[in-house]
Amino acid sequence: MRFSGLRILKEGLTGNKGWGAHWRDPAPKPEYDAIIIGGGGHGLSTAYYLAKNHGLTNIAVLEKGYIGGGNVGRNTTIVRANYFLNGNSEFYSHSLKLWEGLEEDLNYNVMHSQRGLINLFHSDGQRDAFVRRGNSMVNQGDDAILLDREGVRKHLPYLDFDNVRFPVYGGLLHPRGGTARHDAVAWGFARGADMRGVDIIQNCEVTGIDIENGAVTGVQTSRGAIKTKKIGMTVAGRSGQVAAMAGLRLPIESHVLQAFVTEGLKPVIDHVISFGMGHFYISQSDKGGLVFGGDLDFYASYAQRGNLPMKEHVMEAGMTLMPMIGEAKVLRSWGGIMDMTPDGSPIIDKSPVEGLFINAGWCYGGFKAVPGSGSVFSHLIATGNHHSEATGFRLDRFRTGTGLIDEEGTGSQHNLH
Ligand SMILES: Cc1cc2nc3c(=O)[nH]c(=O)nc-3n(C[C@H](O)[C@H](O)[C@H](O)COP(=O)(O)OP(=O)(O)OC[C@H]3O[C@@H](n4cnc5c(N)ncnc54)[C@H](O)[C@@H]3O)c2cc1C
Repeated sequence: MRFSGLRILKEGLTGNKGWGAHWRDPAPKPEYDAIIIGGGGHGLSTAYYLAKNHGLTNIAVLEKGYIGGGNVGRNTTIVRANYFLNGNSEFYSHSLKLWEGLEEDLNYNVMHSQRGLINLFHSDGQRDAFVRRGNSMVNQGDDAILLDREGVRKHLPYLDFDNVRFPVYGGLLHPRGGTARHDAVAWGFARGADMRGVDIIQNCEVTGIDIENGAVTGVQTSRGAIKTKKIGMTVAGRSGQVAAMAGLRLPIESHVLQAFVTEGLKPVIDHVISFGMGHFYISQSDKGGLVFGGDLDFYASYAQRGNLPMKEHVMEAGMTLMPMIGEAKVLRSWGGIMDMTPDGSPIIDKSPVEGLFINAGWCYGGFKAVPGSGSVFSHLIATGNHHSEATGFRLDRFRTGTGLIDEEGTGSQHNLH
């Protein structure tokens, strides 16, 4: 079943009776060439690119809940490539290029909208840091434009530019940054992988990893044992728990991160904006809701909900930057489990157990990485070699201290940054 304008017209005229299920609902087979644990964005894109780029189709994605129920359907949908450091810079640039062709590739509308992202700065020091970041982005081949105060005002006239504590000095505009509809990304990859023969098995929790002589031989699941010689682990906030099934202790802490959406409003915010002096960023969804968030709740947790102090902090920051937001009613808030690494950058690597590959540590920025991560992780699983755009995400950097990619300077104490 392919989507096209003609097909939509035909279905619209015939009562929409011709649409089928977007993916099958297969029972697990006794054995696969490879198993992906976790049907979030990273697991589904890995399966998709394994099938598409490497011809590996006897594979299964095992998801303990339902597709899109994890962070991939809980994030604030920002897609960007405005990283500063080598290691991250080339990887996110690679990922953004894949985003730009994703809808054609998947034949699926993921509502990718390059509406531009503006990081605001509020001091001379911050401006210098953003100048350096912008230069790094341009050197990488991406786009960045430094806006002065009047330049920002043209785009975002509703900000409180003269706030006594945090006046707006300017902003770094990343025109190719923007948003995408998060759960459509999961569905699009699921459909694309399924069409190539991948079994997507929902309600199938992995409860154990079978290892013999230091190599993977299969998994135990809530739907029985399944044999395989290759496992890709893409379980985001549950990375520590699943790795422990193979006797590994990862350098990851799971923290809760909240997000918020208001009632639907007429179009008012047509960029993604981040405040430079408080934990607050915002965009407007196509349904009209103002989607915004802030920082971690600052305690380790597996709960997919947060607490009131961070809600208050985020709302205060929003009111400081754009007082008009006080007129909007908050409709919902929710949380997701973030897999925080000590340097804030991810891990895409082999593990000490033969056949077990790790994709984890996306912290609060892994949605934009979904296509890039799937493409480089599938390369690693299929060939045994690191993809050229993801050579820095090695697990041993946390043991040796060499090659840390500390983009945000958060260090290992996420409650202290
Ligand atoms: C509030 C919030 C805002 C965010 N905003 C952004 C943003 O604007 N931009 C951005 O780039 N990133 C953002 N992120 C981060 C991003 O969502 C995550 O980094 C990314 O989605 C994680 O990868 P995933 O999609 O594979 O995770 P998930 O969707 O969580 O997938 C992991 C899956 O593994 C499954 N699983 C776990 N254990 C098992 C098991 N034992 N057996 C089988 N399945 C299992 C889970 O059920 C889950 O479905 C945000 C996150 C949150 C919570």
